Amino acid sequence: MTYNAYRRLWSNVRLIGRWEFGRKRNQFSTKLDYVRQIDQADKDVTTTQCEELRILDDNTFLQLQQMLGSLKTGPRGPRKSRPLRLWDLVTEFFFCAACSTPEAPIRFYQTGANGTGMQCKNGDLCSCKTAVNREEAVRAVCDQLAGMISRDGDLIESVICRSRELDTQGDDGLRAEIAALKSSVAKISRRIDGLYELAGEGSDEDRKEVQAKIRSAQSERSAAQLEVSRQQNILDGSSATLTSDDVRQALSQASTLLQEAAAGKLNDDGVYQALSIFRRLTGDCVIVHVEQRVGRKRTNVRGVFKVQLLYGAKPDPSTVETAELPIQEASVWLRKPPRVDALAERVHELIDVQKLSLRAAADLLQSEGLKINSGNLWYSYQRYYEMLGQEPPKLVYNNGHRRKTL
Ligand SMILES: [Zn+2]
Repeated sequence: MTYNAYRRLWSNVRLIGRWEFGRKRNQFSTKLDYVRQIDQADKDVTTTQCEELRILDDNTFLQLQQMLGSLKTGPRGPRKSRPLRLWDLVTEFFFCAACSTPEAPIRFYQTGANGTGMQCKNGDLCSCKTAVNREEAVRAVCDQLAGMISRDGDLIESVICRSRELDTQGDDGLRAEIAALKSSVAKISRRIDGLYELAGEGSDEDRKEVQAKIRSAQSERSAAQLEVSRQQNILDGSSATLTSDDVRQALSQASTLLQEAAAGKLNDDGVYQALSIFRRLTGDCVIVHVEQRVGRKRTNVRGVFKVQLLYGAKPDPSTVETAELPIQEASVWLRKPPRVDALAERVHELIDVQKLSLRAAADLLQSEGLKINSGNLWYSYQRYYEMLGQEPPKLVYNNGHRRKTL
């Protein structure tokens, strides 16, 4: 029984033999589509005192009511506001790979208890229906982005600095134009000076003519001066591009913001800054791929997005050559995958790239603290090709290494 149920039980007036009839009346609410009980006024209530049915004496009942009254709690206050988190703001940038078409993308919406998950808009109708934990998914994406920034920071820096050099080359034309304008201003000034010398000479008519010429030359000069300052402003604006230190700073700031947002350490302002970086880097689109596994209930979920790293350093890279934008496709697990899947990529690298034998690769992973043997490793290796939808290549004995002689 709940606390409220006990209170209701012990505050019932029937305990002292008083029976009330008609205290509440049923009323059907068409709006709510159910019957509500409405309290009635005292005059509509029929009260009968029946000593036979009395359980408590009046005094005990009164004391009981006083006790209950003293323990009464007031109405609950407004809900506590939860601190803002990055994963509360980015749900709309996740799209279902199975349902979306290029013309009509289908986004994800919050779902589950307290809205901690997100799932495809089509819900049960989605062929790849799954609820992904929002926090886990956004953390995975942020970690990936921060990792990519730290890996490719130098590349971005060089691209932006090169684009700055290109900018300055473009400015040379502008400089020549300004120089021409300045010389024409000087020419007009000389002409005005000459006219002033003539101003005092000749007849009235001549003087008037000279004054009119001076006025027109002056207005011509002020127009030319205005044009010079306008061009100079353009030149100053375009030359004020980023230095390599600025780029480095912006990148490290973006990376830190993303990591802190993933850890949930930021205040509201920080979360919005992280949001703008998240949006610029992912291009507002993370495609969610769901993979059903044979014989398993839990699905694998991957997020694929195009990373525009340049946007992390420069909000508006319009001056940068678009062909040089290092757009990379990134793929992250939005849900912690089974170990065999999580290790697949690493194992592929060890076996196919570093050409280690299964046993040597297992030893290496064991030294990193993973409880794995060469048998598990083989499954991970197979799984890598299964996820790509390819047939795994036949490995030669010991991956081409000689048998270890005893
Ligand atoms: Zn879907």
